[in-house]
Amino acid sequence: MEDRLEIIEGDITRQKVDAIVNAANTSLLGGGGVDGAIHRAAGPALLEECRKLGGCPTGEARITGGYNLPAKWVIHTVGPVWRGGNRAEDELLAKCYRNSLALAERHSVKTIAFPSISTGAYRFPLERAVRIALREIKNFLAHNRTLEKIVIVCFEKRVYKAYKSALEEMGF
Ligand code: ADP
Repeated sequence: MEDRLEIIEGDITRQKVDAIVNAANTSLLGGGGVDGAIHRAAGPALLEECRKLGGCPTGEARITGGYNLPAKWVIHTVGPVWRGGNRAEDELLAKCYRNSLALAERHSVKTIAFPSISTGAYRFPLERAVRIALREIKNFLAHNRTLEKIVIVCFEKRVYKAYKSALEEMGF
């Protein structure tokens, strides 16, 4: 197993890492789920900075400060809404991981935490999303030497279990 990857159960807003990833929506103006939790924990200055970004297309990523969070940065990425699988959902989700990691690399981030993008309100099938996430992280780590730790923070037991079994199955 790649020792730079860790899967944990917990709350991403509490992670002491350089950057946390937010599963945002295209407006970048906050929402429910992990997005709401991140904005609450970061404080209103995060929303103020997000307003200046003018949104973010699905699959892309933007970076802001972390304000009251323990993390220095928040990388906002917009996962696809699941619409049955024929609307490029797989590729768009893969792009979220790729673009977030590329942005982290450009900002010399050494430790980063991800939530399970798109598997909440956006209804992406969990097992499928988990495999895409792990494949992209694995590909990234194969070429990158600057990131020391990638933590996947699972807020729900079923998400944690899905990651753990996929990890074993994929021989990570
Ligand atoms: P999306 O709209 O991309 O589906 P959601 O926020 O609805 O985003 O859900 C994505 C995942 O984030 C879900 O697995 C949800 O359980 C998880 N989540 C919600 N709150 C937190 C949190 N504080 N820390 C980490 N993960 C969280």
